[in-house]
Amino acid sequence: MGLAKYLRLVRKTADLTFAPANVEQILKIISETKTGADVLARFTPHLRSGRIRIEGYPAEILDKLRAAKSSDQPVGASFVTDGKAGTIYVDLSSELGVLAPFLLHEMIHGLDEGIWDLARGNTRERGLRMLASEKTAFATQHRFLTELKMLHPGLESFLGRRYSGARILHEEMTEAAIRQLYDLEAA
Ligand SMILES: [Zn+2]
Repeated sequence: MGLAKYLRLVRKTADLTFAPANVEQILKIISETKTGADVLARFTPHLRSGRIRIEGYPAEILDKLRAAKSSDQPVGASFVTDGKAGTIYVDLSSELGVLAPFLLHEMIHGLDEGIWDLARGNTRERGLRMLASEKTAFATQHRFLTELKMLHPGLESFLGRRYSGARILHEEMTEAAIRQLYDLEAA
């Protein structure tokens, strides 16, 4: 096989069971799907302007998060903002197949001005706004993951084996399940 053909093949079948070398690799996987490309089109301006950054968790936080989870649960990702700027933290040592849906989920929070507004101190209807943000984030994540599994046929069985304890990767989250997960009150 010639090198060009080999490289084409490798690119087409990016192995999602390995950790990425950098954040750009996760963004590339996200852009492969229709849902991911749509979210990226809205998110990229925030990334370019520096309003939102994507970073690996600081080591001491990562240690604490790992200690709180069993080995069949991923560390996850989170979006934090002070109302002026925001950061999405991811565990860059996890596999691409779990990082892509988690990063996408946090991008939805980053795009949610209601979350920025909460950080600026306007906490009216906090519970409702958090719940609405989670519902959108989980629905988009589920749609994305369904598309990604069609492009990468081995992904479903990999996630099932590697992260059997993470229901958020395997089922569509209902409102009741989200409330339970985050202990959100119906405010
Ligand atoms: Zn969320």
